[in-house]
Amino acid sequence: MIKKKRSFISSVLKLSLVLLLNQIGMAKKVKAKNKPKVVVLGAGFGGASCISYLSNFTDLIDLVVVDKNKWIKTCPFSNLVIGNLIDESKITFKPKFNKNIKFVISEFKFIDAERKKILFDDESSLDFDFLIMSPGIGYKSKQIQGYSVNDNENIPHCWDGENKIANFKKGLDSLENNCRIIISSPDYPYRCPPAPYERASMIANYLKGKSVKFKILIFDSKNSFTKKSIFLKEWKEMYGNSIEWVSKQNGGQISRFEKKKVFNSDGEKIKGDFIHIIPEQKAGKIIFDSKLCNNDWCTINPQTFQLFNFKDIYAVGDSVDAGDMPKSAFSAESQAKILSLNLINRILQKSYLNPVFLNTCYSFSSNDRAFSITSWYKLNTTKDRIVSLGSSQSSDDGLNDERIRESKEAFGWYESITKTLYG
Ligand SMILES: Cc1cc2nc3c(=O)[nH]c(=O)nc-3n(C[C@H](O)[C@H](O)[C@H](O)COP(=O)(O)OP(=O)(O)OC[C@H]3O[C@@H](n4cnc5c(N)ncnc54)[C@H](O)[C@@H]3O)c2cc1C
Repeated sequence: MIKKKRSFISSVLKLSLVLLLNQIGMAKKVKAKNKPKVVVLGAGFGGASCISYLSNFTDLIDLVVVDKNKWIKTCPFSNLVIGNLIDESKITFKPKFNKNIKFVISEFKFIDAERKKILFDDESSLDFDFLIMSPGIGYKSKQIQGYSVNDNENIPHCWDGENKIANFKKGLDSLENNCRIIISSPDYPYRCPPAPYERASMIANYLKGKSVKFKILIFDSKNSFTKKSIFLKEWKEMYGNSIEWVSKQNGGQISRFEKKKVFNSDGEKIKGDFIHIIPEQKAGKIIFDSKLCNNDWCTINPQTFQLFNFKDIYAVGDSVDAGDMPKSAFSAESQAKILSLNLINRILQKSYLNPVFLNTCYSFSSNDRAFSITSWYKLNTTKDRIVSLGSSQSSDDGLNDERIRESKEAFGWYESITKTLYG
């Protein structure tokens, strides 16, 4: 299986490279007189990946990228900061884009799709010929009763790269022996399906390192979760009985939140010293403010990533409904490649590529121990949905060597993608 997985991945990568080189060759011959302006919203994983691919075509297009933040703090590896495996500076980047790409640091306030104009917070504006949106996630207004994402008194959720990890760790630091930690994990779909369970592992790693006795209760709005059998085994091995998972059918769905206590859907009260709610999610706020989406996630054409009903606006990454693909940085990069190549095909009036996509999610259970799942995807026969082609997962009873090797592979993936995107 592993051999099959490797050869599939390597043929996908080779094919993409050949297609990219072909297109660069074609674009150099065409060299547009009036170059269309492509504006990219967001310099996170989806946006920066589009920039990385489209930067090969600046003879053909003018490229502008806009982000509200000058410094990008990545969610991948943020759990490792919580677990004290790495320092926060290791997940913080100041993007260095090519000189011929304009990087604007400003916040989108409204996208006027009719007039193809973006309005900013400071009342300035920017026109576009094509807009690519990758603003990440927003939060549902109807959360657990009594809980608000905006209440600074709550433990910060740390689910969107905003600058709150220090506060989260301050909360952990104040915990004493025999403390109880409650994590509420949301129902699908949400950003990075294994991340709540990796976070539990990293909290455990942190407290174990400080020799604090603890109990972590994960209350889940689902009846199962990705890589469950490996997580359960790893928790037992590394932390004894200190991490307990409660499924939805066993009362895992939290319906009410009060300071230092929660209530599940059976009305049972559970007290906690550190209550970490992972909020229910939907597409980035700007998309709803601009009335570009009627559902929780953007509906796109999965061959081109054009937004349904708006032919010159594209969306990628966590904000889109990508069928069977999970919301991950790896997925966002894989989608951005297809979006970029097919946008160039559109400009060159060539036919569209038929995409294949790839995703690998690594999760850490403690220092130097990681495991993964890799899945590949294609379009269904009617070309309106991304469907799974198969997947391969680390073994349940992986030996030390396998877990250590996968932790090195995870660092390799992270270093390589952040270097490619941010320089
Ligand atoms: C704890 C955690 C761990 C994770 N670990 C992994 C992992 O190991 N591997 C993996 O593949 N994925 C992981 N993910 C998922 C990954 O972070 C996301 O899937 C990925 O960031 C999606 O990319 P995106 O471009 O859609 O959004 P983002 O990367 O969040 O980028 C969105 C960007 O848009 C900007 N923006 C938003 N609104 C505006 C506006 N109005 N104006 C201007 N700028 C704006 C933001 O500042 C941000 O820079 C993890 C997520 C979490 C929460």
